[in-house]
Amino acid sequence: MIDFSLSDEERAIRDTVRSFIAREVMPLEDQVLRNERDGLPGLDPQQHKELQDKAKASGLWGINTPEEYGGADLGPVMSAITAMESGRTFVPFRFGGSADNILYAGNEDQKREYLLPTINGERHSCFAITEPGAGSDARNIRTRAVRDGDDWVINGEKIFITGGNEADFVMLFAVTDPEKGANGGVTCFLVDRDMGWKSEPIPTMGEWGPASLNFENVRVPHRNILGEEGNGFGLAMQWIGNGRFMIPAGAIGAAERLLEMAIEHAKNRVSMGHPIADYQAIQWQIADSHVEIESVKLLTLRAAWQLQQGEDNRHASSLAKLSGGLMANQVVDRVLQIHGGMGYTKELPIERWYRELRLLRIFEGTDEIQRRTIARNLLKGHVKLGGI
Ligand SMILES: Cc1cc2nc3c(=O)[nH]c(=O)nc-3n(C[C@H](O)[C@H](O)[C@H](O)COP(=O)(O)OP(=O)(O)OC[C@H]3O[C@@H](n4cnc5c(N)ncnc54)[C@H](O)[C@@H]3O)c2cc1C
Repeated sequence: MIDFSLSDEERAIRDTVRSFIAREVMPLEDQVLRNERDGLPGLDPQQHKELQDKAKASGLWGINTPEEYGGADLGPVMSAITAMESGRTFVPFRFGGSADNILYAGNEDQKREYLLPTINGERHSCFAITEPGAGSDARNIRTRAVRDGDDWVINGEKIFITGGNEADFVMLFAVTDPEKGANGGVTCFLVDRDMGWKSEPIPTMGEWGPASLNFENVRVPHRNILGEEGNGFGLAMQWIGNGRFMIPAGAIGAAERLLEMAIEHAKNRVSMGHPIADYQAIQWQIADSHVEIESVKLLTLRAAWQLQQGEDNRHASSLAKLSGGLMANQVVDRVLQIHGGMGYTKELPIERWYRELRLLRIFEGTDEIQRRTIARNLLKGHVKLGGI
């Protein structure tokens, strides 16, 4: 049986998130735009913390974090639904109480030192695999870790690392056995900033910048290996694979909010004696946007649902990620067009969203890499057509 309805509990959580975003977060949008125009962060860390405390008081903490770590453990479907709700605002806010999924692979000491403080918001992590010479071709990383007694000595450079300027430790992927490379010769290390790595911000067309990270003879104790030596590439793919459906989920929220703005504007803006909503040229842009949003919603929820059932959701996640990035860019472009000159100004947040949503087609696997995966699965028969 197919059932598209939410349970009463799921609906209650969705509504709590929706009203929290509308009541506490959206009112900050004008201030965020002003701050960013002045070259400041949208929210200062104190303000972000206060919002997180309020969210915690409303029970919104660690949405996808296991209960044993103080989270709500609501699972992938509710996580996707929550991301749709928080995607409705561009305020750079995260509910908190969570950690990158591979940190749960740590041993008891690592959980105490890295996982728990990250969940509590006392420590900040980043995930570093991309290098100047290896992006889509992540199997080709060159950052090298060489064993020296009880330590490993790391040399290399990482690029485009989200949170790399703010993080106090990095989940770093380095080659420990060049013969094996990605097939058993890449290892993930937990490397504290005070072990000696440096970061440099990278300005981008978006409002937040990633960082490049530099490792020059950085010494890391052997006990800081996350998971098993040589198993880093598998961990990296697990991290990316498990979280990929969250990208289109956030895009759905943004696209719905933008479409609401376009509908409102179309009803109010008069041109040649009529509201522009009367013109088919505008109506079709609204209709096409809605079709695309709803399609991505189904693909995204299916990918989340498969993960929740313990199924392999990688193909479904690729479908959702590719179509979500394309949809969000189409919708924001149409919404900007419907607003005319005003859409192009910094008075409205549309141009900001236009710049930010462009990233969705690049990170966590570009459009081309998703298409490559989807085509390969079909051509090799890993995925059969005709299923539901
Ligand atoms: C803002 C931002 C944040 C990021 N955050 C992180 C992070 O936290 N951690 C991290 O490790 N990385 C991060 N990345 C890196 C991101 O994942 C890579 O940029 C992305 O995977 C693409 O790699 P690349 O930039 O080297 O492009 P390339 O791989 O050089 O690709 C260039 C072009 O060639 C295409 N292409 C490449 N190979 C093929 C192929 N086989 N077939 C067809 N087309 C191909 C690509 O699709 C693209 O269009 C981030 C990037 C950005 C911009």
